[in-house]
Amino acid sequence: MSELYELGISEARKGIANGDFTAVDLVESVISRYESDDLHAYLTFDEEGALELARKNPRAVPVAVKDLINVEGQPCTCASKILEGYVSPYDATVISRMKAAGFIPAGRVNMDEFAMGSSTENSAYGPTRNPFDRDRVPGGSSGGSAAAVGGNLCIAALGTDTGGSIRQPASFCNCVGVKPSYGRVSRYGVTAFASSLDQVGPMTKSVEDAAVLLQAIAGHDEMDGTTPREPVPDYAELIRGASLKGVRIGLPKEYFNVGGVDAEVSRITDEAISKCEAAGAELVEVSLPHTSYAMAVYYIIAPAEASANLARFDGVRYGHRSREAHDVLSLYAKSRAEGFGPEVKRRIIMGTYVLSSGYYDAYYGRAQKVRTLVKRDFDEAFGKVDALLTPCAPTPAFKIGELQDPLTMYLNDLFTIPSALAGVCAASVPAGFAKPSGLPVGVQFVCGSFEEARLLKICKAFEDAR
Ligand code: GLN
Repeated sequence: MSELYELGISEARKGIANGDFTAVDLVESVISRYESDDLHAYLTFDEEGALELARKNPRAVPVAVKDLINVEGQPCTCASKILEGYVSPYDATVISRMKAAGFIPAGRVNMDEFAMGSSTENSAYGPTRNPFDRDRVPGGSSGGSAAAVGGNLCIAALGTDTGGSIRQPASFCNCVGVKPSYGRVSRYGVTAFASSLDQVGPMTKSVEDAAVLLQAIAGHDEMDGTTPREPVPDYAELIRGASLKGVRIGLPKEYFNVGGVDAEVSRITDEAISKCEAAGAELVEVSLPHTSYAMAVYYIIAPAEASANLARFDGVRYGHRSREAHDVLSLYAKSRAEGFGPEVKRRIIMGTYVLSSGYYDAYYGRAQKVRTLVKRDFDEAFGKVDALLTPCAPTPAFKIGELQDPLTMYLNDLFTIPSALAGVCAASVPAGFAKPSGLPVGVQFVCGSFEEARLLKICKAFEDAR
């Protein structure tokens, strides 16, 4: 018999409805995987808390939570030393919504510190391993979420995506990962990295599960002014019988024949294109002419916003406080120097620089203008096509320790950053396995802002076509 932790959300719900097992059985099964976790996907697990919620709601399904989303009474370290010992005083909106929709937050999963990175090696608590090859990274920053889903250490997980942090790890670990449109999901209670980009999204074993979990967390929230009153469609219902017939899929020419892309990624992406065509989709070449600027724009805007957001970690209000300080200024300086890791410091320094007087217009102001051009590219493309299909990450999972240079690491998000800047929705869907390594590779579908229903339908039809 297969184990309960191998199930996805939909199968788990069916089993509960049939009376085969209860939420308590599910949570216990997931806890057994947490206790034997040799990937270091989890950081902590409030076992008693999860079991108590399962006893109260025997039809609920456990979901692992990235360690930057606040769950009342649980630690929330953002994989940083600076938040060691911090306990959340309240639930993030995504958590209260999830609970109301029949889910239980179950376990906190590893990530790059403050979501900065593409490998989960930037966690202050040690790296997570890829379930398909333990010497390799699971991707990042939602690497714990991806490893837990792909390695069957949980039923489903929440991740966050600022420039690719749901999609790239989903591609590396054979999961479905959806980055919702900016504003679709509330960020209240989600530790901010870059506030104009951050989104929470589902990481799951199937497209149907992603639809169900997204539906649970999406929607207007009084506590997040970027969430419009746009009603949340019934995603799970809408994807039933999804088809690619007559769907116009754009292939942005700037995303193909790019240097540094692994040959197996290209082969699997080409195969995905053929499968869409065979399933009745109409393929159209499109152009997103400002693509090559997106990376530079992101590495100005994201660090700028991060430097402002991370100013709150000062040794006074949260987490780590230096014992070496002798006055208030040295308290700030030493607490931050001791608490933040090297990548976070690099971002704060870059961000502070591009916002400083005399440089603001030259860097930050210009980056904002170019961001508008990047966004316009997508608006124009979506005037012609329903969705875009692109590679998701340039390579399959790389080895732990393999990428030492930060710029090389940043290139992982080449294909995911432009859509993040544009605020549109995008997803990574498993597309195949590289030869001869057997490492999973996902492809990316991108749709317009608040077009998640369309995106999920296309992903579902592609999943079925495979
Ligand atoms: N890898 C990118 C970065 O380091 C994106 C991270 C993310 O989406 N949170 O900023």
